[in-house]
Amino acid sequence: MTARLEPPVSPEAAPFWDATRQRQLMLQWCRACDLPVHHPRVLCPRCGGTDLDWREAAGRGRVHAFTVLHRPGNPTMAERVPYVVALIDLEEGARMMSNVVGCEPGRVAVGMPVRVGWEDLPDGRALPVFEPAGEAAGD
Ligand SMILES: [Zn+2]
Repeated sequence: MTARLEPPVSPEAAPFWDATRQRQLMLQWCRACDLPVHHPRVLCPRCGGTDLDWREAAGRGRVHAFTVLHRPGNPTMAERVPYVVALIDLEEGARMMSNVVGCEPGRVAVGMPVRVGWEDLPDGRALPVFEPAGEAAGD
């Protein structure tokens, strides 16, 4: 399958992408609000504070919204159509745009529990994607 595009890395997001090399899903947190901040940035969007650090996320969440793409968003996705682009609500409280993989697009539903999976990128990073986490998954 064609390799994914390598997402560009802003300075603020470098810790996020570095951690994907170990398949760790990291979230930026505002210490003042005690809430996650995503996407990574310089200032907390709630309080404007700069006291931000990083914590590992559990990688569990639910589908908040999704769309099934029948035309590829870019040429590297041509072999994957139809595929699912979704907003995932992580249990820590952050919302992340990603793909739902590992099931037929027709099975994806709002509220479906998912867990993080990883697709290796050519440069050694990995792209977080999400797959169904059924009751039988045990976690
Ligand atoms: Zn804050």
